[in-house]
Amino acid sequence: MKILKTVSSVQKALQKYREKSISIAFVPTMGALHEGHISLIKKAQELSSITIASIFVNPTQFNNPEDLKKYPRTLVEDEALLSKNQCDYLFIPSVEEIYPNGTDNHLTLDLEGKDQEMEGHFRPGHFQGMLQVVYRLLEIVQPTYLIMGEKDFQQFSLVRIMLEQMNISTKLIIGSTLREKDGLAMSSRNRRLTSELRKKSTIIYKALQYARKNISSKSIPEIEKECILMIDNQGLRTEYFNIIDGYSLIPLTQFNQSKYTVACVAAWAGDVRLIDNLCLRSDK
Ligand code: AMP
Repeated sequence: MKILKTVSSVQKALQKYREKSISIAFVPTMGALHEGHISLIKKAQELSSITIASIFVNPTQFNNPEDLKKYPRTLVEDEALLSKNQCDYLFIPSVEEIYPNGTDNHLTLDLEGKDQEMEGHFRPGHFQGMLQVVYRLLEIVQPTYLIMGEKDFQQFSLVRIMLEQMNISTKLIIGSTLREKDGLAMSSRNRRLTSELRKKSTIIYKALQYARKNISSKSIPEIEKECILMIDNQGLRTEYFNIIDGYSLIPLTQFNQSKYTVACVAAWAGDVRLIDNLCLRSDK
């Protein structure tokens, strides 16, 4: 695996594939890699003969400086894991390389308020920062495919809107959420959980499954209330548990309002913020 640190080295490395119309698949990450990330690398390899990953802990998407400071950084292990999994290139830029003109310029997009709900509500500015960095990374890498995880439901939904509105031809591919054996969604943040909270965090997936089981028999507000209680009773603190329409991201009140229904949750386990989601009903 070749490590690239500058924009010009990425462009130089990828030019030869572009000239031969060889497709390039790109997996952006913030590092502290786990098998969930690797599942995206594998998806990339199924689609393209060239796979490039990036590790960049983007400061502009952290509304909470403590969260940015505490974000796990395990570069040596990450490089070994990617290399073992035959990733071709790893881009590890500095902040200056990504934002040579400073971090102020944001994209002007019509997100129809989809960036204000859920994660956007509890992490003001998060999605502006996320879209800013994804746009910049796409500008540098210009991949054929961009591979992102279903785990960050709102994130990939907004990236899809950005690709459409900015007329970017990169195709967005979504990889399903990889879970630990007990159902907890794999996340870089899980390694910060105490063993007690790690066990208790399994309630998040149990609550999502409870929602799926009861979606046609109970009212949505009732399910949301019960799920929040289930999670909080384990000593976690639910920030939101919303059952939404997966296309518009609008919260639902009735089961038959949407053919693509997704439950999204964020909860604090101690000082670790965990998010997850589950499709409850789909016409896809
Ligand atoms: P992150 O490093 O957390 O920014 O994540 C980088 C990419 O990996 C994002 O597209 C995430 O949605 C995806 N991802 C994170 N966790 C998982 C998981 N458990 N399974 C599949 N993809 C994941």
